Amino acid sequence: MPPLLPGTATLGVLGGGQLGRMFVHAAQAMGYRCIVLDPDAISPAGAVAEKHIQADYLDHLGLAQLARDCDAITTEFENVPALALETLAGMRVVAPAAAAVAVCQDRAVEKAHFESAGVPCAPHAVITNDIELAAVDPALLPGILKTSRMGYDGKGQVRVKTAAELAQAWNDLKRVPCVLEQMLPLKAELSVLVARGADGQVVTYPVQQNLHRGGILAVTEVPAPDVPAEVATLAIASARQVAQALAYVGVLCIEFFWLDDGRLVVNEMAPRPHNSGHWTMNGASVSQFELQVRALAGLPLPEPRQHSATVMLNLLGDLWFTAEGGPTPPAWDRLLALPGTHLHLYGKAEARHGRKMGHLNITADTPEAAHAVALQAAALLGLPTDF
Ligand code: ATP
Ligand code: MG
Repeated sequence: MPPLLPGTATLGVLGGGQLGRMFVHAAQAMGYRCIVLDPDAISPAGAVAEKHIQADYLDHLGLAQLARDCDAITTEFENVPALALETLAGMRVVAPAAAAVAVCQDRAVEKAHFESAGVPCAPHAVITNDIELAAVDPALLPGILKTSRMGYDGKGQVRVKTAAELAQAWNDLKRVPCVLEQMLPLKAELSVLVARGADGQVVTYPVQQNLHRGGILAVTEVPAPDVPAEVATLAIASARQVAQALAYVGVLCIEFFWLDDGRLVVNEMAPRPHNSGHWTMNGASVSQFELQVRALAGLPLPEPRQHSATVMLNLLGDLWFTAEGGPTPPAWDRLLALPGTHLHLYGKAEARHGRKMGHLNITADTPEAAHAVALQAAALLGLPTDF
């Protein structure tokens, strides 16, 4: 396939969320036209694309229109029906491929992929019926029961201590296929972004250290402050292995648990740019969104170079609410007076608790300086300063 040259081609995105919006921004900066397909009348990506096709992901007319008007198509969220990607792949370049996205959509399949790629994941059991439930190894308790499909931001997860709690939790989850994972003692959570081209070229970013609150990413720091070089090297090698084994095309994010005993196990992966990679927009020579554009268009993938220590703070809708009420936006002017601050808002009309409204990147010459300003920013926003 010859590359789709900037200024001549149109790129399509399934999904209209913030990841789609930032993809569209990167694509447009390079001279591509963009079309977003999303069922909602108003969406963050639909608002900035040249065209928004308002249709369901499995709507034949919508998909046909997208295929007709685009030269290549990607997805911005992993729960897009794999069938939509398959349908489009019959007509146009699609990356990542439906088969790779399908692996990421099902935790049981995903874990089998990690194991076949030779990358260890958390000890777990698949539960799809009463026999499997009864056969669960008690060594997996205490654990976390997770629905195999459609989980995100800690949704569809229940922490269980005993076999009785496990049975109850599975009932509460409507007995859908689940994975029980052993609860692991985490020293830290890490992630690695990989971009792979159709020609097999692979590039990676440095390891990202992530702090979650309530199952939602809160803070990412790069360089990872607590991670020794050998753990970083292993994480990057494992991430490359996972991408290679999937023959993946595009940006892939692999999340890891770094355990108290020093072991590294893979948690899950996302077949797209990732929240923990938003720091690349200000701290690296090329952003994860530009790499996604390049991979989709068949352009060369430059090896990313980190030029600034960066801390990313997620800005959830909670920040719009105070004891006095709300919603009122935070004092951006005071925040942006801090050195090295870069604000990204996703254009969402309504602030809600737990809703991702934007993020703040803080860049500096040294990790210590970025960290210090990030603490000031967090204090100003009323966020915890526990990082
Ligand atoms: P995402 O928004 O990343 O897609 P998700 O809903 O798919 O999230 P996970 O990444 O599986 O959820 O889990 C969310 C968080 O819960 C993890 O980042 C981690 O903090 C915690 N967690 C999940 N599984 C385990 C485990 N086996 N042991 C300890 N902590 C865990
Ligand atoms: Mg996760």
